[in-house]
Parts: sequence; structure tokens; C-alpha cells
Amino acid sequence: MPINILSQETVNKIAAGEVVERPLNVVKELVENSLDAFASSVTVEIEEAGKKLVRVSDNGCGMDKKDLELSILRHATSKIENFEDLSHICTMGFRGEALSSIAAVSNFDVKTRKKGELSGWKLSSNGGKNVSVVPCSGSEGTITEVRDLFFNVPARQKFLKSDSTERSRIISSFEEAALANPEISFKMLSENKTVFSSSKTDDKLERISDILGKDFAKDLINIKIEHPKVILDIYFTGRDNSLANKKFQHLFVNSRPVNYPRQLIYYVYQAYRESMPRDRHPGILIYITIDPSEMDVNIHPTKREVKFADEQGVYDIIYKSLKNAIISHAHPEIKINSEPKETEILRPHTGSNFKYRHEKSRSFSNGGSVVAEPISKYNPKNYSIDKYANVFAKQQEFVSEKFDENIKVLGQAFNAYIVVENKGELYIFDQHAAAERIRYEVYLSQIKAQSLRVQQLLIPETFDMSPSGASVLKANIALFNELGIIVEEFGQNVFRITAYPSLLGNVAIKQIVKTIVSDIEEDKNAEIKEKTDKIIRSACRSSIKAGDSVSFVETKKMISDLFKCDHPFTCPHGRPTAYKISLNELEKFFKRK
Ligand code: ADP
Ligand code: MG
Repeated sequence: MPINILSQETVNKIAAGEVVERPLNVVKELVENSLDAFASSVTVEIEEAGKKLVRVSDNGCGMDKKDLELSILRHATSKIENFEDLSHICTMGFRGEALSSIAAVSNFDVKTRKKGELSGWKLSSNGGKNVSVVPCSGSEGTITEVRDLFFNVPARQKFLKSDSTERSRIISSFEEAALANPEISFKMLSENKTVFSSSKTDDKLERISDILGKDFAKDLINIKIEHPKVILDIYFTGRDNSLANKKFQHLFVNSRPVNYPRQLIYYVYQAYRESMPRDRHPGILIYITIDPSEMDVNIHPTKREVKFADEQGVYDIIYKSLKNAIISHAHPEIKINSEPKETEILRPHTGSNFKYRHEKSRSFSNGGSVVAEPISKYNPKNYSIDKYANVFAKQQEFVSEKFDENIKVLGQAFNAYIVVENKGELYIFDQHAAAERIRYEVYLSQIKAQSLRVQQLLIPETFDMSPSGASVLKANIALFNELGIIVEEFGQNVFRITAYPSLLGNVAIKQIVKTIVSDIEEDKNAEIKEKTDKIIRSACRSSIKAGDSVSFVETKKMISDLFKCDHPFTCPHGRPTAYKISLNELEKFFKRK
């Protein structure tokens, strides 16, 4: 086979594929360039969801003629000089490939005027060819215009989704940039209409309120922590304001929006564990400021992931402070008056010599360097973490001590409730919720003990699914199998179930599997652990039918099983299992007291 050396044009087009997959990436890269240029105001305009036009204007430092000419060459960057510089990145960009990639697949224009110069320059190119640079007028800063994206790569165009999908991706990404950088004004227009506009502010909460809504922002709790290793500014919902989805979870590291690392989000949920129903989610924005040499951003093509040198250390600080703040917010009445034990998170920040972009950007405008804002609302003096943990443990013991053989099951009401008397309290249990809790905990414990019992079906149940449902099921088949639901592919989008856990009883298992699949589909980014939990909960829920009458003996067994559970008072979906009335309340009601 004859070997060809590819032309620069072809090489650039291929490379462009890695950086620019869709209009969203163009917006993101250009906005990042504006941020790196110390802009205090950034405007994005799009037409036809960015397919026809993306224009990003900033009031940043601009470029002179020489830099402008270099800017669209591949691997041309002002942000690093050599490989070592990668170990302390303070800028959003550093690979020097965004402009060359974007220019290769669009009709591309940059108008720029360097700060302090009297006039500017305009660069134009078509698909990376016919590059010209001519003088032009205009204010200080840079306007980058990308027209007819992928006009010369039709294959790419085919991959693009509808305008509304592409537009909403752009908007979410722009919102993230705005959340990450409250000290910068942002504006976005689509087809010449303002989509949103947010003026710069020193107050993150104000920006959060602008972008995510006043209702969400008004209930947020804030903690600020300075640690020698890391500065944290966390805004989060308390126990009573959990949400139905994960939309309001953002992580920013040195002002870069990144995905939550799996382990970190796990810690966040752990911190909420006791105080949030299982199918609810926290709203949480974590702003991390860390010495750039303590992390690596060069591990993901679109820089959506970061790695911390001391990952565990950082996560520990977040977990502990978050957990304490959640507890103390939920129980302001509990104060333990002892001097705090010196723990890592309580140690004051001893000053930092690292710089990050905003230090530079602020020193640009006011000539001074800035560390983080002082600690305000978080005052850990009121309690010590360890002591608090003990109080909690005692309460738990108390709960389980309380329920012993004295429990008297009085009967069943409306075929749905079980009435129980115990030590001066009357409980009305929701039979359905209670059964769900019991089944859930049995399922979990059998899995943990690797003693899950499954029943083989004499005749396997066969069913078909939509292509998208089938792809979700296929991707999770191993997990289903691990959980005792033995599913296998049985043709194109057709599956069959040969066995399932005995504890689920006699159920329409294929219906259950379908429900679980659509649950998983709704939340594609769920972690294995969450998915596992979802499958177990869903299976337990669907396996119990409300309104079934239960014999007296069965109710007794049920209540005694329930009190063996770790969490007898909530069903796995977080609803309460019981309503409690004390003798005292009854007496008051009947005016005996
Ligand atoms: P990178 O951001 O990785 O350096 P880019 O291809 O995005 O690579 O940009 C190349 C260079 O062009 C940047 O390093 C910067 O010097 C310059 N540049 C790009 N956009 C702007 C802008 N809006 N204002 C000032 N300079 C810019
Ligand atoms: Mg860049």
C-alpha cells in the first residue's frame, strides 16, 4: 500500500475532531480564551444554535499583530512554554489547539485590539485557508466569530442534534462558566434575543441566584474553609431542601467547571446520608481553590476532569466539614460546649503563596494580589466533631433499645395500616412502606453476605424493548446478574429472564425489569453504587402491592422484622413508614390532662 503524508489541512481537520465536536465546544473554548485574557465582561451570541454563528466578544487584553497571526497555528499558545509548565496550570487553556481546530472547520474571523494600542487587527480565514490579517478599528479586547461550523466536514454536521438540543447544551455550559466566575459579567444572545445576562459581583450567592434561581439560592447554606492545602467555598441545600434530581450539583476547581469525581460525589452523599431520603438529591456547589501544582488538569481531552495530588486529603476535608455543617444546621439546638479539638480542618489558613487566574486578573485591575475571602459564617467553635459523633451514636442506640418484645400489634386498618402499641406510644404503620423497607434490607444483607437466593423460572420470561431501552439494559446486564436478576440477550432488542431473587416473591419480573431500565435511563450518569441501589429499591417497591390484606400472624412478623431493620422509620424511598401518637397527646386530645 502506498503511504501518503497528509497535508496540514487534513491533519488540522482530523485534529479538530478532538477539540470541536459540536457548537458547544466552540463556545466553551472561546469563552475560556476570554477568561484567560483577563476579560471582565464576556458576551456570546449564537445563531441556529451555533451552527450558523458563534460570536464571543470580550474586553480582555487583546493581541498584537504578531500574536494574532500565531494564534491560529496549531500548538501556538501564550500560556505555557514547556512541559514543566503543565504542572502548575493557572489558565483555562494551555494546549494551543482551540483556535487552529475551530478555524479549520469554519469561516473564521478574529478582530482584536491589544490594551494600550490605538488600533487593532482583523484575521480572516476559510476552513483554515486564505488567511489574511488587515488593520481594523474597534475597542480594546477581542471578538471571535465562527460562521458555518463544519461547512467543510459534512460528516460532522450529521452528528449534530436538533437546534434546541445543541442550544440547550451551549446554554448549560455558558451557565457553568458564569457560575464559576461571578466576578465577570456574562451575557448571552440567541437569534439576537437575550437569553441571559448577569453583571459581575463579589458575592457568589448573587451569581448563583441569577443563574440557578432565587428559590434555589435563598435556602442555601454556605461554609468557607481555609486550609493550608485548599480553600473551599461550599453552597449547599440543607436537610429540608433536597431535590428530585442532580441538576444543581456543580464543582469548580480554580474557577474551572469540572465533573464531580466519582469518589467525591460519593462522599457528598455520605455526608448527607442520615438526613436525606434515598431518592432525593442535594443541591451543592463546591468551589475549590488549590495550588495548581497540587492537581492535574491534563487528563481529559476537554479538561472536564481533574486529579488532585492528595485526593483523599481534599475529599476528607470536604466530607467532614460538609457533614458537620449539615448536622449543625439541622440541629442548631445541640451545642457541645467544649474547646474544639485541633483537627485539620479547623486550623487557620496560614497564607498561601500560590497564584491562580483571578489573582492575576484582579492584580491586573487593582494592582494588588488577592487570596480568598475571609472565613465568615462557618464557626466550628461550637462543637467538636468527635464528641458530636458520639451523641449521634447514642441516639441511634436509644432508638433500637426502645423497641423490644413489649410491642403489641393491635390489628390492621383499611387493609393498608398496622396499628401497634409500644411503651406509651401508638404507631400506625404504612404496611406497604414497611414491607418495602424490610425487603430492601433483606436484599441488601443477602448481597453483602453473598447469600442471595434466586428462584429459577420454569419457563423463562421473554420480552422486547425499545432500541434505547435495550442499549441501557445491555450496558447493565452484568449488574442485573450480580443482583440476582438473571437476564440475557435473546435476539435483536429481545431479552429473557431465567431467574430472580426469591425474596421478591411471585412477581411480574419482566415488568419490574422494564421499570428499572427506564429509571436508569432517566439518570444515565448514575454511578454503579447508585444504580445498584436504584435496582434494589425499584425491585422491592414493585414487588409489593398496596391494599393486599395480611393475616394477623403476618403483621406481627412484619413488625418484628421491621424493628430489626437499620432504619425502621423510613421506606427505602425516604417516605415515613409510621405515624406516631403518644399517650400524652391522646390524653390531651380527650382533655384528660
Ligand atoms: P490556548 O488557549 O490553549 O492557548 P488557543 O488556540 O485557544 O490555545 O489560543 C491560542 C492563543 O491565542 C492563546 O494562547 C492566546 O494567547 C491567544 N488568544 C486566543 N483568544 C484570545 C482572546 N480572546 N484574547 C486574547 N488572546 C487570545
Ligand atoms: Mg484556548
